[in-house]
Amino acid sequence: MRCPQCNYRLWNLTARACPECGRPFKPSEFEFRPNTVEFCCPHCGQPHLGQGVLGHLVPERITCAGCRRELHMDQMVLRPVPGVDEKRTQFYLNPWFELHERIFFRRYLAAVWHGIVRPGLAASGVPSQTTYGPSANFLIINLCLFPFISALSLLIFSLLVNLLRYGRWLPSGPGPDLLLLASPVIFTMLSLMTGLAFTVVWSTSIQAMLYLTGCRPHTGRMRTFEALAITSGVHVFTAIPVIGALLSVLTIPAWIVAAAIAVRAVQATPPIRTALATLALPLLLLIMTINLVLLA
Ligand SMILES: [Zn+2]
Ligand SMILES: [Zn+2]
Repeated sequence: MRCPQCNYRLWNLTARACPECGRPFKPSEFEFRPNTVEFCCPHCGQPHLGQGVLGHLVPERITCAGCRRELHMDQMVLRPVPGVDEKRTQFYLNPWFELHERIFFRRYLAAVWHGIVRPGLAASGVPSQTTYGPSANFLIINLCLFPFISALSLLIFSLLVNLLRYGRWLPSGPGPDLLLLASPVIFTMLSLMTGLAFTVVWSTSIQAMLYLTGCRPHTGRMRTFEALAITSGVHVFTAIPVIGALLSVLTIPAWIVAAAIAVRAVQATPPIRTALATLALPLLLLIMTINLVLLA
């Protein structure tokens, strides 16, 4: 937390003006990486962890755990959590929103990677002032790109098998094999439609389950939708040629885990109840599928 005017460090201060240049400041003007900054009571020194999306206190007004005084986060003395380097407290921006990065594919691959290895951070790094549009675009790209690569590789594979077995790419001619040739496009369209519908319904069900189990989500349903969208890059493994389609058995559970972590990061809800809320709809669909298979 540096003074925007003179770059002076503003940690450990009770005063609300920069000691170097006199510019007034409020802690709420600054954005931090969640769980890296402590808000200490100016009366008793009791630290409270900034767990909100912007590393702020949630809620902004609290009762001090030490002296029971009512405090607003702007009255408190800030410092990095002991053992956390000052650099690590800087607000993290999800690479998908780094619009100054002109190489689209670099931005995209970085966002996919961050969604896999740090889903909580990836979701909290979605700027809160944006609409859900950019996150939805990221989801749409994933829903189209991975199935298309997967289906295209399977098509090429089956054409090669035909060539080896029958000496022809298409043994029964281009007419009857039209469905095979169109399979990448059909598969991609199906994935896009079902994936989009599922993610919208899933985010609504998570939000409803959180309210039903007595949680108070920090923000609305759109942030939950963004959390699901921004972690959907875990399905990248399904784009591995030929075997990729089989890997969805692994990437679907991986998405549920990443989504639960991401939802918890943006909604600041209790971990177990967030996990149950995230698992509810996929579990229901799994049970329905098993029932249908058993009935058939
Ligand atoms: Zn200053
Ligand atoms: Zn206190």
